[in-house]
Amino acid sequence: MAKKFRINKNRCIGCGTCVQSCDKATKLGGDMKAEIIDQEKLEECGGAKVCPFGAIEEIREDKTKK
Ligand code: SF4
Repeated sequence: MAKKFRINKNRCIGCGTCVQSCDKATKLGGDMKAEIIDQEKLEECGGAKVCPFGAIEEIREDKTKK
């Protein structure tokens, strides 16, 4: 099952590591915080591990959608 991630903007310092290490999965927005543009690609790159500051968080969807 595909994982989903989000950026914790309080933790993101806009270092750009995620953009560099995983091209086209994230980008820096106008606020200089990362934004996810491709969830699948980000997962392939290692998901939360891509960010050395812990700003990329996996969203756990425990509830089964009906
Ligand atoms: S690597 Fe982490 S702290 Fe750096 S820009 Fe990406 S999400 Fe933000």
